Amino acid sequence: MAHSPLGASAHLRWENCPGSVREIAKLPEELRNYESEFAKEGTAMHEASALALNAGLDMSELVGRTFNGIEITGELADFCQEYVDAVRFAHELHGGELLVERSIEASALHKDAYGTLDAAVLSAPVACIFDLKGGEGIVVEAEDNGQFRQYAWMLLHDKPEFTDIVLTVVQPRREHSEGFLRSETLTRAELEHWANTKMLPAMRATESENAPLKAGEWCRFCPVNKALACPKTEQAFGFMSNEPPKFEVLSDAALLDQLKLVKAAKFYIAALEGERLKRMMAGAKLPGWLLVPKRADRIFRQTVEVNGAPCGIEEAASRWFGKEAFTEPALKSPAQLEKIKHPEAKAFVARYAYKPENGLTVAEDDGKTVGVEPPKPEAVFAGVKL
Ligand code: SF4
Repeated sequence: MAHSPLGASAHLRWENCPGSVREIAKLPEELRNYESEFAKEGTAMHEASALALNAGLDMSELVGRTFNGIEITGELADFCQEYVDAVRFAHELHGGELLVERSIEASALHKDAYGTLDAAVLSAPVACIFDLKGGEGIVVEAEDNGQFRQYAWMLLHDKPEFTDIVLTVVQPRREHSEGFLRSETLTRAELEHWANTKMLPAMRATESENAPLKAGEWCRFCPVNKALACPKTEQAFGFMSNEPPKFEVLSDAALLDQLKLVKAAKFYIAALEGERLKRMMAGAKLPGWLLVPKRADRIFRQTVEVNGAPCGIEEAASRWFGKEAFTEPALKSPAQLEKIKHPEAKAFVARYAYKPENGLTVAEDDGKTVGVEPPKPEAVFAGVKL
């Protein structure tokens, strides 16, 4: 199935930046459908997992096989197995129909409402929908996730018998305090309300020829950004000059206007640097730039030669320096302690760890974070003898 310009996997982007759909349509096809190495690996994980689910295989049976040009290693197989197990468990629990990599569409609602969902278990009145996230960078939350809700609505809009909907993200490579499986549970009425008040209006907003552009975290995966062709980022660089800026003369309103362009500029720079690395890794010589090894800390060889015989590094260090070569055992950090395999570890950390005051910084107002007041001058200078 062709990619929809309003695909669920790009939901965050087109919902926030409706003009991106117009800008992407202007790109040549190879840039529109550009697949990064990370995306290729993600596709391979989906294809291998789908085969395991459909053929009743264990992922270990697929180690060494190639999907989408990527070989399934033991590590990738372990990650995929978590997803395969979660889907199988839901199917054993609820019974009913199992859908894997299934094309879905809701063209009666919008012409571009189509796509492919990873997996679903349908056993009326319960519909369990799964999405596998192979990435290890960005955490994907299940709550209020437009992508998963869009899949659910495209699949269930004409199936009124499904009234209890469970949307589950499986992200086995990324640490999360709630674990690698996270779910949102919705009633049909809640999903329908969301689709009618948020998703469908956002879809229609992309159709206007003047649909606005808005930069944000969603630029990271935007093909227009990858093609360095975003008018918004051009605007972001328009105010730059070699002259030292006089930011102190900006009004608050002008400062806010300029700050709105910071994200666009950051994503533009990241895309520019990514393109530089890609070309140089392919052998291009770019004047003024060199390909160099990444910085790395020194590490010891595990086995060394002492008096002509192989010796473990710890033994060698002990012979030379005794206890001085070793560090004393130290308490792990709260984050490290939380990860040890002990049923009380999380509770211990929750009870005894705290965040010391570390000064103030600025965060974007996302409607959830609670801001604080700056300290009063008398508090800042408390204890200072003037
Ligand atoms: S790069 Fe960002 S601002 Fe530009 S079109 Fe894409 S999503 Fe919109």
